[in-house]
Amino acid sequence: MIPLEDAVAHVRSLLAPLAPVELPLADAVGLVTVHDVVVTAPVPPFDNSAVDGFALRADEVPAPGAELVVTATVAAGDPGDRPVPPGGAARIMTGAPVPPGVDAVVMVEDTTVRVDGDGRELVSVGRVPPAGANIRPAGDDLDTGDVAVPAGTSLRPAHLGLLATVGLGSVRVGRRPVVGVLSTGDELVPPGEPPGPGRIPDSNRLVLVALCAAAGADVVDLGLVGDDEAAVEAALRDGAARCDAVVTSGGVSMGEFDPVKAVLARIADMRWMQVAIKPAKPFAFGLLDGVPVFGLPGNPVSSVVSFELFARPGIRILAGDPAPDRTRWSATAPDGLQRRRDGKIHFVRVTLERVADGWVARSAGSQGSHQLSALAAADGLAVLPDGDGIGPGGRVDVLPLDAGP
Ligand code: AMP
Ligand code: MG
Repeated sequence: MIPLEDAVAHVRSLLAPLAPVELPLADAVGLVTVHDVVVTAPVPPFDNSAVDGFALRADEVPAPGAELVVTATVAAGDPGDRPVPPGGAARIMTGAPVPPGVDAVVMVEDTTVRVDGDGRELVSVGRVPPAGANIRPAGDDLDTGDVAVPAGTSLRPAHLGLLATVGLGSVRVGRRPVVGVLSTGDELVPPGEPPGPGRIPDSNRLVLVALCAAAGADVVDLGLVGDDEAAVEAALRDGAARCDAVVTSGGVSMGEFDPVKAVLARIADMRWMQVAIKPAKPFAFGLLDGVPVFGLPGNPVSSVVSFELFARPGIRILAGDPAPDRTRWSATAPDGLQRRRDGKIHFVRVTLERVADGWVARSAGSQGSHQLSALAAADGLAVLPDGDGIGPGGRVDVLPLDAGP
């Protein structure tokens, strides 16, 4: 057995970010910026009103009830370049530029308007505004030279808005990795088909396709192939030709009919590992025609644990993410989490519950590597170092799992 960190280091030694691409903002969500985006003009670009109301001189409203003549209306999108004369006020809408001459905006709710005998509109101001009231000054969000979005940012929806706001229509990001997912095993049938004697549904492919997508990949479903060397070889070569990485499940352990192992040993440059973890001890990683291949174990829970430890960070590295690992959470285990000393790190499926002073982790159910029900119920994987486990009330690190689709 090799330590987990050695296996992780081996994987990372063979992975590098894909070449960056320039993409329209609409296509960039989830992708990682490759350089700092520096602001070239103030945001907002001009002083503008935070409310619908009247723009005026604050010192012309010394007391509630002061009246001013409405001389103009400034809507959002107007240039707002006509000065307001002394004694005047401009009706102004949210986001409209504050015209020259005025220094405050009073919200419409604090005003009343009447028309006098000369047909002039007069606004009576019911509240004394401080200078600057309800004005959003130019540059109060970002100023020229500020870094709007640093290099290495995984773009979330709000980042796209920010990039548009600073004037960009496209952004340079790490390319979205294309990842192929392959299931292998004579016992497997596609989901929904009656399995027949001795056979089971192929569940891993669905899970791994969804996990790859959640990790930020464009996923290619390479299908399900039986334990047949020619078919496995064809599927792997197809994957290596079309993808930036290939994820397989099954056929990497000590079984008799493991064609994945036989084929990869022949056509790829692989390392076969027994990693000191439970579940997911068997793991293979290497390059096929220069394309990384993650050979995950077949047991459904093992494949997910192996994915989380090796493939997910690997995909994030390909995507250019400088922090490819999930942040571990710290939780209390009120019931403790038992284990025996066996030289391995155990990854225990746990639920997480929020309490007043942090998170509480409890076993999500039966912990067999074939038992998907506890994995499905789990919010995370509790990391139990080798030893006798966590006593009741002890602290434990938890690797969060994707909660949603
Ligand atoms: P293997 O690593 O191929 O020996 O498979 C180990 C265990 O995982 C066996 O019980 C397989 O039936 C099961 N298994 C392998 N691949 C899948 C899959 N795609 N979906 C569900 N179970 C699988
Ligand atoms: Mg198999």
